Amino acid sequence: MAITGHSSRDACPGALQVHPAADGPLARVRLPGGDLTGAQLGVLAASGGGVLELTSRANIQVRGVHDPAAFAAAVAAAGLLPAPSHERVRNIVASPLNGSAAFRGLVRALDEAICATPELAGLSGRFLFAVDDGSGDVAGLGADVVLMSRGDRFAVVAGKTDLRLRLPPARAVHQAVEVAQTFLRVSDGAWRIPEGTFPGVPAALPKPRTSGYVGDFGDTTGALVPLGRLTARQAAVLAEAERLRITPWRTVLVPKGTRLPEGLVTDPRDPWLHVTACTGRPGCAKSLTDVQHDAKPIGVPVHWSGCARRCGRPRGEVVDLIATPSGYQRSEP
Ligand code: SF4
Repeated sequence: MAITGHSSRDACPGALQVHPAADGPLARVRLPGGDLTGAQLGVLAASGGGVLELTSRANIQVRGVHDPAAFAAAVAAAGLLPAPSHERVRNIVASPLNGSAAFRGLVRALDEAICATPELAGLSGRFLFAVDDGSGDVAGLGADVVLMSRGDRFAVVAGKTDLRLRLPPARAVHQAVEVAQTFLRVSDGAWRIPEGTFPGVPAALPKPRTSGYVGDFGDTTGALVPLGRLTARQAAVLAEAERLRITPWRTVLVPKGTRLPEGLVTDPRDPWLHVTACTGRPGCAKSLTDVQHDAKPIGVPVHWSGCARRCGRPRGEVVDLIATPSGYQRSEP
């Protein structure tokens, strides 16, 4: 199980380890399962330079953090920094529509178990856990460890390998932590679990979906945040909600009847559901152009990028439009 890895620690931003972006320090706040309160969203909006970005892991990036120390203090006071040593490794996506106490409790239990395991602070900020309620919505998002509901038990998948375990919830959480610990011991600095690291059989994972949860779902409304960019004004309106849930598809779930800010999309047929873009200029110095300005629907799922790194690209069948000195180059999925 020898793995050839990276020699350096990854530079993934966090709430404490900010990234020096072209438009100022950039912070990323992990939201296991995408959950936060309106008050917490308000703190994030008030602590940055005006723009919040929803990420493909249902986290929030805050751009233009002019005073990182004050930002960290505000985030901690808002309850969004429960384990500073583990703040970058609390990457957990979870089936967003499932609000049952048992399911959300399982997500919280996994988060707490990760944070209570000192050595897991050494995971890369890119390492991802997924908890899928059996609907298959997050199991295909390329997580390193997937807990997939099978009735009252959970299958455990590690690096696309089904470990052939079917465990009750508490034991599944324990197993997920154990997989991460074992990986760290053999990883040789690798950031993600490569296929074939663990013994088992190939996992039957669903295809990744490229958009999700816009419109009404029972007592919940899902709204798309176009290109994942939420202005301070929009965030201030959303902060009136008691609770929100960010999804990996740059949508936000709120209780039905919640006031939504102008600019969010609730029509599931809207073509903007199928458009994503990297930050581009002026936020990213590597970008050849203002990608967010250029991005528009093209009739099929598309990701617009300012360079070949394709940051923020959703998994799955998505056309890439990549900026070059002579215009955007199209690459089929
Ligand atoms: S894809 Fe390139 S231009 Fe876009 S944010 Fe990433 S590094 Fe910057």
